[in-house]
Amino acid sequence: MTLKIGVVGTGAIGQDHIRRITQALSGAEVVAVNDINPQQARDTVAKYGLHAEVHADGEALIASRDVEAVLVTSWGPTHELFVLAALAAGKPVFCEKPLATTADGCRRIVDAEIAAGRRLVQVGFMRRYDVGYRDLKKTIEQNAIGTPLMVHGAHRNPAVGDGYKTDMAITDTLIHEIDVLRWLLRDDYTSAQVIYPRKTRNASGHLADPQIILLETTTGIRIDVEVFVNCVYGYDIQCEVVGETGIARLPEPARVLMRSGAKRSVEILTDWKERFIDAYDVEIQAFIDGVRTGELTGPTAWDGYAAALIADACVKAQRTGAIEPIAIPPRPSFYDA
Ligand code: NAP
Repeated sequence: MTLKIGVVGTGAIGQDHIRRITQALSGAEVVAVNDINPQQARDTVAKYGLHAEVHADGEALIASRDVEAVLVTSWGPTHELFVLAALAAGKPVFCEKPLATTADGCRRIVDAEIAAGRRLVQVGFMRRYDVGYRDLKKTIEQNAIGTPLMVHGAHRNPAVGDGYKTDMAITDTLIHEIDVLRWLLRDDYTSAQVIYPRKTRNASGHLADPQIILLETTTGIRIDVEVFVNCVYGYDIQCEVVGETGIARLPEPARVLMRSGAKRSVEILTDWKERFIDAYDVEIQAFIDGVRTGELTGPTAWDGYAAALIADACVKAQRTGAIEPIAIPPRPSFYDA
C-alpha cells in the first residue's frame, strides 16, 4: 500500500522532498500540503503534478484522515507544534532539523513520544545516510585505524546572507557535525570551546567568521571543527579521524579529474543541496520504509534533543570564550537500538 504523506512547509527543502517522493523514491505519495503562504502551496501542487489537498493550516493537514505520515519542513520555530500535533494524532513524523528551537521543546517531544509508546519521530540529520560517512563509520568499527583519538573537521560555505548571525554557525551549520560525529564515534561530548581566528573581510560586520569549535568526548577524543561560511571557493565538508594506527578521511564527492591548460583539476561543489543529494534520497526512503514496516530506524527525537543541548553549550561557549561543560542526561531505554 502506498503511504499517504502530508507536507507542512513548501519552501526549499519541502519542495525538494516532495520532488524526491514524487519522482525518485518508491512506496509513497504526497496527498496533502500546507504552507503559511497558500499560493506557494498551490504552486507546489501544480509544479509537481500532485493530487494533493491544500490545507489551511498545518494542524488541519495533520488531523486529516487522508494523511498517514507527516513531513515537517516549515520554518524551525514551528517544528515543535507540528511534531507534537502529529504525535497526538498517533502519526509518524519526519521533522527537518531542528526538532525544536529549544532543548526544552525537544524534551517535550521526547516525553510525548515515550508516552505514545512507540517510535514515531525521525529527525532530518541526513549525513548519517551519506555513503561517505557510512564507509567512514564502517572503517572505524572494523578497527582499521585503531581506537579514534582525534577528529579534524571543516564545514565551509561559499557565502551566507546578511541575516546569518554568529550563533547560526552553531545552530544552522555545526549542528550537522554535532549529530554526525556522535553517531560516527558512538560517543557523546563533555565540553565545548569556541575560538575565533582572524576574521575574513568577506563576512558581514556583525558575523564572526571563521570559527573553530573544540569538543571533547566522554572517552577523551578531541574534535576540532572549522566553520567558515564565507570561504568563497565552494561548499566543502571535510572530516578526518585520527586513530592509534591510522587515519581515515571522508571521501570527496565523485567528480571528474581533468587535465587541461597545464593543470590537473577537480570541481568543488558550491551547492549544499547537491553535496548530499543521495543522502536525502536514502533518508526519506528510509522514513517511508520504516513507516510501512512499523519500524523507524533513523535519527531519533532523543538525538534531536541531544543536539539541542550540545548546541546550547556551544552557543554559550561562543559568548564566554570558556570551556563549557555539556551535560546530556542518560538516554531512556525507549531509544535503545
Ligand atoms: P524555507 O525555504 O524558508 O521554507 C520554509 C517554509 O515554511 C516557507 O515556505 C515558509 O513560509 C513556511 N512556513 C513558515 N511558517 C509556517 C507555518 N506556520 N505553517 C506552514 N508553513 C510555514 O526554508 P528551508 O530552507 O526549506 O528550511 C526549512 C527547514 O528545513 C528549516 O528548519 C531548515 O533548518 C531545515 N533544513 C534542513 C536541511 C538539512 O540539510 N537537513 C537543509 C535545508 C533546510 P514563508 O517563506 O512565507 O515564511
